[in-house]
Amino acid sequence: MAERKWTHDEATQLIELAEAGLTVEEIGERLDRTPGAVRVKANRIGIESFYERDIGKFPAKRRSEKLDCMMCHLPMVSTWAGNRICDCCKKTELYRCA
Ligand SMILES: [Zn+2]
Repeated sequence: MAERKWTHDEATQLIELAEAGLTVEEIGERLDRTPGAVRVKANRIGIESFYERDIGKFPAKRRSEKLDCMMCHLPMVSTWAGNRICDCCKKTELYRCA
């Protein structure tokens, strides 16, 4: 089954649920996505570091800024000032995230 495109609302929810401490499995259930899809999306919107060690949990209180990507206008997490383009867009010349 092809993956559905993430909407702005869903991506926002992903960030919020991750910040609330839910695991990728729990977030997947709420958003009707596979844990793998959640993990991939977390990567693309800049919260990969929270999941990369495969602990499955968003670590508590890491300083980050939530904003919308300048290119695709999807929500993203910026961990350093001045970062305004999500990782997904940085990787494509088309500036389009799936
Ligand atoms: Zn983007």
